[in-house]
Amino acid sequence: MPGQQEETLIKKKYAKEIEQVELWEELLRKSIVDEGQLDAICKGNIDKEKLKAVIKKYPMRINPYYLSLVKKKDDAIWKQCIPDVRELDDPKGFEDPLCEERDSPVPGLTHRYPDRVLLLVCNQCAMYCRFCTRKRKVGDPFKRITRAQILRGIEYIKGHPEVRDVLLSGGDPFLLSDSYLEWILKELRSIPHVEIIRIGTRVPCALPHRVTPELCNMLKKYHPLYVNIHFAHPDEITELSESACNMLSDAGILLSSQTVLLRGVNDDPKVMKDLMQKLLKIRVRPYYIYQADMTMGINHFRTKVEKGIEIIEKIQGWTSGLCVPHFVIDSPGGGGKIPILPNFIVSRDDKKIVLRNYSGKTYTYEEHC
Ligand code: SF4
Repeated sequence: MPGQQEETLIKKKYAKEIEQVELWEELLRKSIVDEGQLDAICKGNIDKEKLKAVIKKYPMRINPYYLSLVKKKDDAIWKQCIPDVRELDDPKGFEDPLCEERDSPVPGLTHRYPDRVLLLVCNQCAMYCRFCTRKRKVGDPFKRITRAQILRGIEYIKGHPEVRDVLLSGGDPFLLSDSYLEWILKELRSIPHVEIIRIGTRVPCALPHRVTPELCNMLKKYHPLYVNIHFAHPDEITELSESACNMLSDAGILLSSQTVLLRGVNDDPKVMKDLMQKLLKIRVRPYYIYQADMTMGINHFRTKVEKGIEIIEKIQGWTSGLCVPHFVIDSPGGGGKIPILPNFIVSRDDKKIVLRNYSGKTYTYEEHC
C-alpha cells in the first residue's frame, strides 16, 4: 500500500482525473444500449427494426465518452461502435474462429500454448466493438462469468506448474471493481509458478476515466504486471487516454498495444503509422497488428492480408523500430498467432544472402564459412 505522503502526491498530480473517479460508473450507466437511443442520435436515419435484430444478437454499448470521439457519420470511431445490418449477413464467419472453446479444459480458460493460459474474468466492456472476436459472448447477460468459474480456472492453473504466464481478458477485466480484480490478482500471485500476469483491456482507450489512482495503487502490488491496450485509430488518443496511460506507466506497468486491421477504419499505412507514433508518445509500445479474425458478423471489416503487409512495409525502416508492431494472423482453427512479414530476402544460397532494405536498395551479406 502506498504511504499517506505518496497518496497525497498521486492525488495532486492527477487532480483532474480524480474529479472523474466517480464518473466512470455513471458514464457506463449513460451508455446507449438500444435502437431507440440510437435512432435519436442518428436523427431517425436508421432502419430501427433491422438494428434491433442486430443488437439482440450482438449487444450494443456506447458510453458517452467514446461517442464524443465521433466527428462525423461513418468515421473510424463510428464504424467501431455503431451496429451495422451487415453483422447479420455473414455466410463465411465462425462463432468461435480461434476454437477457444475447444482448447478450454475448464470453462473460461484456454490453454493452447505450452507455458501460458488465457483466463476470462468478465464479459462486460466499456463499449462493444462491432468487430469483436468474442462477439459470441461479450455483453450477453446469460453468459456472465461467475466467481465460481474463475475459481475453477485458478484451480486449474494451480495444478499446472508449466503455466508461468496468465493473460486476464474477457470482455474487459478493468470493468471489474478494484476489490474483485484484486481478489483475482492475489489468488494468482499466491501460485509460485505464475511468473507473469498480463491484462488485456480497452478501458484506457474507450473509458479512460476508469483508470483511477486507486486502481493503479492496487495494480502495482502485483508486479510483474503487463497491460495490453486495444487502440485502433489515432483519434482515440486524447488528453484523457494519455492521462490514463501515464497513470498506469507511473505505477510501473509496461504498456503495449494491439490493433485489429479494419476496413474503413485503419486500413491505410498513413493512419497506422500515425497511430503507432502517437502510441509511443504516450508510452505504449506497439505490439501487434492483427489481421481481422474470421468471426461471424465482421466480414465487412475484413481486409486482404496484403494490406497488412503493405502497412508493415510502409512503417518498417521509415520510422523508429519501436513503432513497428508484429503483423499476425491468429490462425483459424486454433493454430495460434503466426507472424506475417514482407519479404526482405531477394535471394539466398550457401554463400550469401541478398537483402532488400526499406527503400528498395539491395545489399549482400556473405555467410560465414
Ligand atoms: S473491448 Fe475487446 S472484448 Fe470488448 S468488445 Fe471490444 S474487442 Fe471485444
